[in-house]
Amino acid sequence: LWITFEGGDGVGKTTQARLLHEWIEAAGRAVVRTREPGGTEVGALIRDIVLHHRGRDGSGHIAPRAEALLYAADRAHHVASVVRPALERGDVVIQDRYLDSSVAYQGAGRVLDAREVRDLSMWATDGALPHLTVLLDLDPAAARARLDAEDKPFDRLESEKDDFHRRVRNAFLALASAEPERFLVLDASLPVDELAADIRTRVRALL
Ligand code: C5P
Ligand code: MG
Repeated sequence: LWITFEGGDGVGKTTQARLLHEWIEAAGRAVVRTREPGGTEVGALIRDIVLHHRGRDGSGHIAPRAEALLYAADRAHHVASVVRPALERGDVVIQDRYLDSSVAYQGAGRVLDAREVRDLSMWATDGALPHLTVLLDLDPAAARARLDAEDKPFDRLESEKDDFHRRVRNAFLALASAEPERFLVLDASLPVDELAADIRTRVRALL
């Protein structure tokens, strides 16, 4: 069973992934919790480039297609070396972000063609798709307020303009309505416990 968490920055993906991990493990199943970008050693290097590269002139600009390819490279290696082996062992994989993030961020955010970004990712992973994708949906202003309150370490994309984050949110929602059977869309402004319970209800049916 492969479950991914998606949504904008600051919506609570990591918290819900952790709670689900604890619950499934308590039920006696082996869990591999992982993330993109950066779920492997190679991926950590790629993550450092896409999120922290500042460039000699400090502008940190990476051409949008290059950025899309870096995320796809991270994903290709991650699926081949972590996700597929875990699924073959029968483990449950709980993953923070996957290809929907690329369609939303590199596609809608960076204004590349959504279909092409998705096709690139499907090529990179030989078509691997999760059984369930939990989309935590939240107004970007509310998400930003949460990140500020937590005083989290700064990631490059978190400094993008509001319009960028609105496009990303809308792209996630469009992806979910195009594949309603894969997605569980939840209002991320709800209390943490309520969200966790809704997620468990859905996952229980898949275990
Ligand atoms: O989810 P996490 O905080 O690890 O993501 C790090 C950053 O990478 C975030 O700012 C997110 O917006 C960005 N990102 C992206 N494209 C992806 C995945 C993540 O721009 N495909
Ligand atoms: Mg972040």
